[in-house]
Amino acid sequence: MPRPIQATIHTEALRHNLARMRDAAPDARVWAVVKANAYGHGIECVYDALRGADGFALLDLQEAERVRALGWRGPILLLEGVFEPRDLELCSRLSLWHTVHCDEQIDWLAAHKTQVPHRVFLKLNSGMNRLGFTPQRFRAAWARLDALPQVEEISFMTHFSDADGTRGVAHQVRAFDEATRDLPGERTLSNSAAALRHAGDAHVRGDWIRPGIAVYGSAPDFPQNDIAHWGLQPTMTLATRILAVQQLQAGDSVGYGSSFTAEGPIRIGVIACGYADGYPRHCGTGTPVLVDGVRTRLLGRVSMDMIAVDLTPVPQAGSGAPVTLWGRAADGAILPIDEVAAAAGTLGYELMCALAPRVPVVVA
Ligand code: PLP
Repeated sequence: MPRPIQATIHTEALRHNLARMRDAAPDARVWAVVKANAYGHGIECVYDALRGADGFALLDLQEAERVRALGWRGPILLLEGVFEPRDLELCSRLSLWHTVHCDEQIDWLAAHKTQVPHRVFLKLNSGMNRLGFTPQRFRAAWARLDALPQVEEISFMTHFSDADGTRGVAHQVRAFDEATRDLPGERTLSNSAAALRHAGDAHVRGDWIRPGIAVYGSAPDFPQNDIAHWGLQPTMTLATRILAVQQLQAGDSVGYGSSFTAEGPIRIGVIACGYADGYPRHCGTGTPVLVDGVRTRLLGRVSMDMIAVDLTPVPQAGSGAPVTLWGRAADGAILPIDEVAAAAGTLGYELMCALAPRVPVVVA
């Protein structure tokens, strides 16, 4: 018998969330962001469900090759562009659109001998201060690209730093509008948070939106809003079973460091999941978990392969009972990944991406 832990990728939920993002920006096209192996879901696992997107946005040539190998003939965008000059060859061969965010990338394009003209997204650094040309240098970069015979089409991109937070997007949208004013070409600005929170604003929407996390069933602005608020569904379930049941008495503790001590008699279940499966070690007593679809809590520290849970709300649950760490239980009960992430002081993004290779994945 294999260890009873499994991740399930929910095809229908992916479809639903993609449709939800389309509804949020009905007149825009959608780059489904599948970088980081589709946020830990597996590019091959999500491809069928996300084929309804207008394009796939991702990080590197290997991921682009995987999407082409699945049969995708439509647009693919390299979100950070190429990392060295020789990448341009494969970029042409795979017919990729690529981001240009620095002068070196323009130098490489200028030196590239190709029959296949490039389609690029020129990136503005409108305030995130990671990648992109500053507003002062943006026009000069555009003029250089525009003069290159290797470049067939120039579109424009920026990325928001606070679309999910209090600072918002207005200052960055203003910088983007000013930098790109009167320049011909398509525009893309919005990640999930911007697409959902500023759905009514055509400037924010642009011609393409680039949602990632919302497609994967996590609320980009949790805890302010949750997936129910945004009409999103969990796309990844991490599930296991109870391996053993222990009966503690007052004063007994559980796990390393004895961080949980029983105040009175309590039944606990020991489950087959730990930080080596990608479950965050920073979750502690009180983190929500579903046993038999019923909400209960973690007790004590997360070990490498095991965690203890409180069985008080599920007196019927014994060895072998199903446990949902995040996602959807068999009876339809939902535990959003965002709640577990919050208990660990992090985000749903990190939990999805950290799912360990030792966890078998099934597509349902
Ligand atoms: N666009 C770019 C350039 C990104 O780096 C990302 C993700 O970090 C996204 C879009 C998607 O963002 P989100 O997952 O928050 O929707």
